[in-house]
Amino acid sequence: MLLTAPGAQQAILGITEAFKADSFPKKINLGVGAYRDDKGKPYVLPSVLKAEEKVIASRLNKEYAGITGVPEFTKAAAVLAYGKDSPALDRLAITQSISGTGALRIGAAFLERFYPGAKKIYVPNPSWANHGAVFKDAGLEVDKYRYYNKDTIGLDFEGLLADVKAAPKESIFLFHACAHNPTGIDPTPEQWQQIEAAVKANGHYCFFDMAYQGFASGDINKDAYAVRYFVEKGHNICLAQSFAKNMGLYGERVGAFSILTESAEEKKRVDSQVKILVRPLYSNPPIHGARIASEILNSPALYDQWLVEVKEMADRIITMRALLKDNLEKLGSKHDWSHITSQIGMFAYTGLTPEQMDKLAREHSVYATKDGRISVAGITSENVGRLAEAIFKVKG
Ligand code: PMP
Repeated sequence: MLLTAPGAQQAILGITEAFKADSFPKKINLGVGAYRDDKGKPYVLPSVLKAEEKVIASRLNKEYAGITGVPEFTKAAAVLAYGKDSPALDRLAITQSISGTGALRIGAAFLERFYPGAKKIYVPNPSWANHGAVFKDAGLEVDKYRYYNKDTIGLDFEGLLADVKAAPKESIFLFHACAHNPTGIDPTPEQWQQIEAAVKANGHYCFFDMAYQGFASGDINKDAYAVRYFVEKGHNICLAQSFAKNMGLYGERVGAFSILTESAEEKKRVDSQVKILVRPLYSNPPIHGARIASEILNSPALYDQWLVEVKEMADRIITMRALLKDNLEKLGSKHDWSHITSQIGMFAYTGLTPEQMDKLAREHSVYATKDGRISVAGITSENVGRLAEAIFKVKG
């Protein structure tokens, strides 16, 4: 007997099923973690289409990439994350990965094998639903640090800082670099500075998950603030990058995992161990998506075009947040909805209870996860009015 019991259905997949089964024509799906255009349709970036045409026109062969992937891609991905003038680039061990999830998984496996301290990682409470499983399956223990304050629908900064300080010295901490999923609440630069000081004072090790660079504020440099600040302050971090959201390359599975080492000599050792780790997992990564991303990152004209397109996506989301808040206020809602516009990125934490979320689905055909998280990417100029009415009816 191989399986003893069926696995629990993942919450997000349950929503998709319920949404599909609903015959109401104006139903709204705010469960999806992918960008949609203002017509509610999946979006392929024009820069991606152009890059893909170039890749196809160059008629490259389909032979295997090396274990660590397409070198032009990983080199450019490192520059994007750490900054083009960063001295860290010379000491960086980097590998292509199966998008952000794969990067997290390689990182977790690497830490499980080589981290000299406790094999335990602290993740924010709440965090992306998959973090716990990725880290546990790679053999790490997972604990939580305080992050969300449900009374303010904001950051529990005091709690976060206290937990960073209370953790045993040299613990591993996972931070969302920007656009925290699921809350949409990020520390301010000043708060990051205080977090960095507490991390340093306790000798903790930082694992950054940057799944939304550019997608949060529309500015790739602003979104990389925390990563670059920690590096500048001397932390040899590790980093998971995803190109799913900021290039819309979801299904192409384009990502990178990097470890900042102490020296060129340590970099060599780490590089070889990363290869030893990746080889039995999947031998080498897929090439097509990485070639597209590489084309964009390495061609100045396409890169500039992409920056504009990332900003357009971020701006549409910011506009939808403002429209939702305006509509709720116009309807006469007495709640303070400022968190909707102060939060950032694809997701918003509405503060609605599981019962209210149930009611939204049953009575208004508005589908999202029970924790009150909505994907702002699913809001459009056309459905925002009806969405505000539905939220107003269940919450007031
Ligand atoms: N980290 C976070 C915080 C995410 O939200 C996601 C995607 N939802 C990922 C990592 C990984 O996504 P992917 O594997 O598609 O790059």
